[in-house]
Amino acid sequence: MPALPDQIIRPEILALSAYHVQPATGMVKLDAMENPYPLPQPLRDEIAGLAADAPLNRYPDGSAAALKTRLREALAIPSDMEVMLGNGSDEIIQTLALAVARPGATVMSVEPAFVMFRMIATFAGMGYAGVPLRADFSLDVEAALAAIARHRPAIVFIAYPNNPTGNLFDADGVSRIIESVPGVVVVDEAYHAFADASFIDRLARHPNLLLMRTLSKLGLAGLRLGLLIGRPEWLNQLEKLRLPYNVGILTQLIVEKVLQHPDVLQEQARLIKQERTLLYGHLAALHGIEVFPTNANFILFRTGREYEAGTVFEQLKRRGILVKNLDGSHPLLKNCLRVTVGTPAENARFLDALRASL
Ligand SMILES: *Cc1c(COP(=O)(O)O)cnc(C)c1O
Repeated sequence: MPALPDQIIRPEILALSAYHVQPATGMVKLDAMENPYPLPQPLRDEIAGLAADAPLNRYPDGSAAALKTRLREALAIPSDMEVMLGNGSDEIIQTLALAVARPGATVMSVEPAFVMFRMIATFAGMGYAGVPLRADFSLDVEAALAAIARHRPAIVFIAYPNNPTGNLFDADGVSRIIESVPGVVVVDEAYHAFADASFIDRLARHPNLLLMRTLSKLGLAGLRLGLLIGRPEWLNQLEKLRLPYNVGILTQLIVEKVLQHPDVLQEQARLIKQERTLLYGHLAALHGIEVFPTNANFILFRTGREYEAGTVFEQLKRRGILVKNLDGSHPLLKNCLRVTVGTPAENARFLDALRASL
């Protein structure tokens, strides 16, 4: 008798439920922090030409040298820092976990945080410790320092701004954490384009700091490209774990092309930030809604005592609007929904649907 899967697959994997992606056909999709704007037509035409001529029968450049040069320029990456590319930053989180996953090693983050930190810790057979944020979603530095002393984490992930809360933590508080961790700290700047703040200047100060970025939230989610930036001592080791051709040729060519027009995505990010301010104002003016400050391209809000978040979520869905229901995912997120900033028309449809759902 051959073994059954549940006799072979690790129990912690059997216990997982797969990452749930909501069906969104025909919906106003405001659940996944995507940039709502397409690329301008002339640029799309150039991309079509690139795709047509790409040598798809060949493996891509495994080192993605041309793309990296472009990225270094576009992101103003310090010349003494190394860069590693991932198939999205999710893949980089996984590579990092694999690299440090000694028996008994722990991943640490805050709670609530990006769910992949915990999930990937489990994939890699590592323990996970989450330090609760305060009720206003600020960083509890003293609690974090105590948890670090107790768990001695091999790796700490801090999203800056944080997802799903949207806020930036106090940067000096994060630096204190970096200085007290025996392992490495990854500051995940997935929402950098909307934040006007970065740890990139602190790379020089902290030898155990790595910085992660992605092009997903900026407008290229479909291409899957993430970056890790840090000292060669770290990155040269991590490069050994990167699968040889993890960034496909179309991603390399198209990102290179788009970065030749840096104003395009920057202008879209500017529009999104402008819309964010308007959307925030409209939400804050609604009776019975509590809105939390944001430095990202999404807004977290609480439906309050009068309305159950789950009911509002279902009503929005019935009206064709998809947001993220966070109620039940963490005690601090009781009755919380998260909406991605869309186009002016999408935001107006969302607000109309929300008003009708309250
Ligand atoms: C969306 C998100 C990511 C994942 O980005 P990909 O590059 O698309 O894999 C990573 N970190 C945070 C905090 C995110 O919100």
